[in-house]
Amino acid sequence: MLYLNNLGSSELGPPDRKGKNLTVWVNGCARNCKGCISAEANRMLPPIIMSHYLLSLIFKEGKYHGLILSGGEPFLQAGELACTIEEISLVTGKKPPVICYTGNTLEEIRERQDPEELQLLSHIDLLIDGEYIEELDRQERYRGSTNQRLIFLTDGFRPEDFPPMKRSISIKLHGDGHLTMTGIPSRGQAETWNKIKKEW
Ligand code: SF4
Repeated sequence: MLYLNNLGSSELGPPDRKGKNLTVWVNGCARNCKGCISAEANRMLPPIIMSHYLLSLIFKEGKYHGLILSGGEPFLQAGELACTIEEISLVTGKKPPVICYTGNTLEEIRERQDPEELQLLSHIDLLIDGEYIEELDRQERYRGSTNQRLIFLTDGFRPEDFPPMKRSISIKLHGDGHLTMTGIPSRGQAETWNKIKKEW
């Protein structure tokens, strides 16, 4: 079972040539980075519990092309997320391109030699690694702070697909009344988003 904070549609990544990406915000993170935009969700929201099979069925509809794993900390649920990607590959006939944000560095993941973490790592095309350091936040679009690296683990994505860009977010109101935000928000946008959530 997967423990999630939210699911949403996102255009993060290369120009939307083949379809949108499904962003999966997983629940829970053992770190406590100052300024973390997910801290409140990790603490306050009861997780959405979803089977990897159900998530794969969402992909089967054909609306989504790629998968973005964001936090929370995806590597705390590495085995389940690896199974999810394998299940999606099975029902759609091809592995989706996967972008993953993690508070770990690539070296930490490799050094631990945890089989489930390595299994998840083997499915990731682009890893954006390292914890968030508020003082190093330069408002870049694809990473929270400049210590984090965009590591292209396969040729599924290319560095030129991620040119320097100003941060932007989109807030979406869904039919069932819940709100999702995609993108890494600037400080002002994060404050506004937290305010909207509290008052919604
Ligand atoms: S690693 Fe990410 S989710 Fe975890 S506390 Fe840091 S910023 Fe928040």
